[in-house]
Amino acid sequence: MNLSENILTLSNWINSAERICTVCHTNPDGDALGSTAAMFFYLTETLGKSVTALLPDAPPQSLGFLLEGVNYLTGGPSAQEAISRCDLLICLDFNVLSRAESLCDACTSYPGRKVLIDHHVGPQEDAFGLCFSDTGVSSACELLYEILMHMPGIDGHAGRLPARTAYALMTGMTTDTNNFANSVFPGTLRMASALLEAGVDREDILDHLYRSGREQRLRAQGDILRDRLVITPEGAAVTVLTADVLQSYALLDGETEGFVNIPLEIKEVRLSIFAREENGRFRVSLRSKKGTSARELAMQAFHGGGHEQAAGGRILIPEDIPTPEAAAEYVTRAAARFLQQNSHRS
Ligand code: 5GP
Ligand code: MN
Repeated sequence: MNLSENILTLSNWINSAERICTVCHTNPDGDALGSTAAMFFYLTETLGKSVTALLPDAPPQSLGFLLEGVNYLTGGPSAQEAISRCDLLICLDFNVLSRAESLCDACTSYPGRKVLIDHHVGPQEDAFGLCFSDTGVSSACELLYEILMHMPGIDGHAGRLPARTAYALMTGMTTDTNNFANSVFPGTLRMASALLEAGVDREDILDHLYRSGREQRLRAQGDILRDRLVITPEGAAVTVLTADVLQSYALLDGETEGFVNIPLEIKEVRLSIFAREENGRFRVSLRSKKGTSARELAMQAFHGGGHEQAAGGRILIPEDIPTPEAAAEYVTRAAARFLQQNSHRS
């Protein structure tokens, strides 16, 4: 099936559905929430559908602005029940159902029509009746933009998208490209251009994303860079924060988002890893420069995956390390070994 046939099928499935649910990945980021909000406002405002957006867990407070006006549920039995009662399930910004974590079982056992819209490598194609998957785009928001532009009622005119859809698409693309620093394709700029022309207020998006932090966050970032960043001779930058240490910086949920990118500013650094302890394990973020695969290391050492240059995973206690204090050494060793083994590539 080609793209336009898939879009026609999606359009037919949406038309014949009364109750629609969307699901995004756990620890939702700007792209997950942006694609969720964009789809929600298209389905409700353009098509008048009844939609419930489902999040496997709570969104960070800093991205709450994307969910204003969205009818959403966070995890739990009511979200599972919403899935069982809907007649179309649209999965956004993840490639395998396990990434829906707390909603994975409900999504897996859902017998109805399931659609995937995603930009990660290796989609679980057999789990979906309809699969839109493209790694040649910046974000799920960019792929969703392409799809919506072909949908009836929009027909190639970005100005016909609901204003809140256009805004959410621009926001998700902006966060996944780290404000046009990574994964920018020709189509990404065409999309940005069309959305700007359609009236999206990019200044407002940038205010929300990058100019609304707390003073404490910036100061903590400085302290963490000075006190906690370790750079190995192989070119790995490692920052590991145990729960105690995190608490000492008085940071709120989501406030360490973006810290992982900063060490890549150093010329010799090829790989940056940021790990923070939460809920009895470590959440790990990895970023790399071209020639080094963050994704491969995430899969090898951290039960994770993602994109070549931006990936994530976790460190489990006690499966991987006996105590949280052992995390820094575990990460540093894994990174050093990985870079030694892969030095021929760069
Ligand atoms: P972040 O570091 O921002 O949490 O995640 C970076 C990228 O890696 C995102 O595209 C995200 O979807 C992906 N990612 C994060 N954690 C995991 C994981 O546990 N498994 C997989 N497959 N991908 C992940
Ligand atoms: Mn994404």
